[in-house]
Amino acid sequence: MIKIKTLEEIELMRESALVVSKTLGMLAKEVKPGVTTLQLDKMAEEYIREQDAIPGFLGLYDFPNTLCMSPNEQVVHGFPNNDPLKEGDIISIDCGAIKNGFYGDHAYTFAVGEIDPEVQKLLDVTKESLYRGIREFKAGNRVGDVGFAIQDFCESHGYGVVRELVGHGLGRKMHEDPEMPNYGKRGRGKKFKNGMVVAIEPMINMGTHKIKQHSDGWTITTLDKKMSAHFEHDVAIVDGKPQLLSTFDYIYEAIGIESDEEDEFRVK
Ligand code: MG
Ligand code: MG
Repeated sequence: MIKIKTLEEIELMRESALVVSKTLGMLAKEVKPGVTTLQLDKMAEEYIREQDAIPGFLGLYDFPNTLCMSPNEQVVHGFPNNDPLKEGDIISIDCGAIKNGFYGDHAYTFAVGEIDPEVQKLLDVTKESLYRGIREFKAGNRVGDVGFAIQDFCESHGYGVVRELVGHGLGRKMHEDPEMPNYGKRGRGKKFKNGMVVAIEPMINMGTHKIKQHSDGWTITTLDKKMSAHFEHDVAIVDGKPQLLSTFDYIYEAIGIESDEEDEFRVK
C-alpha cells in the first residue's frame, strides 16, 4: 500500500534527506587516495549523530555499518573495509539517516582523484538519467514512465541497467511501496499522485546489466567486472510536480563545482 504524506510530513522528510545530503557533502572532502572506506564510515556515523539523527542503515536487515560502500565493479550494498581507495577508483556511497521518525536515503558515486574519461562518462550519464527519471515522477504519470526514461537514456549509451535492484517509496520505513524499477514501459504500473515520496536510484553498469550476488549475502558486483555507478535522490510530488528533498549542493560546494541541474526541482 502506498503511504501518502501530508505537506507537514514532507517538510519533516526534507530534514531527514538533508542530514544525508550534508553527510555526503562532508564525505566529498574526505574521498581521496589513501583513505579507507571504514574510516569514511566512522566519520559519517559521528556526523549523523551530531545532527540529532540516527544512521539509517546500521542494523537495518542486520547491515553492520552506516554507509554502503561500493567501489568500481561493485554495484551496491558493499561493506566498508580497511582497503585504501586508489587514484582512478570510483566509490558509490549510499547513506541513510532517520530524523523525525522518517528516513532519508540517498547516494552519489565519487571519483577518487583523476579517473578515466570513459568512467567519467558513465558517472555523467547515470546522474543525467536520474534527473530524466525524476522529471517523469509527477501526478498522473506511472511507475513505468520513470523506469522507461532512465532505461532508454542509459541504453542509448550502451550501458546495462540493473534489474534486480530498484528504487522505492520512502517514509517511516526505508522501503515502502511502490517499487521504482530503473527500467519499464511508458504508461505501465502504479499511478503517481500528490504526497508520494520515493527514492529514485539508477544503478547503471558500463557493460552487461547482469550482476553477481556474493556469498556474504550483501555485496553485488557486475558479472563482467566492469564499472558500475549509482546516484539516488529523495523526491516528493507537491502540486503535481516533482520536488527534490535531497540535494547534491553540499557535495558540489565541497569539490568546487557549479551546477544548475537541481533548479527545476527546487521549492519555488
Ligand atoms: Mg540508498
Ligand atoms: Mg534507496
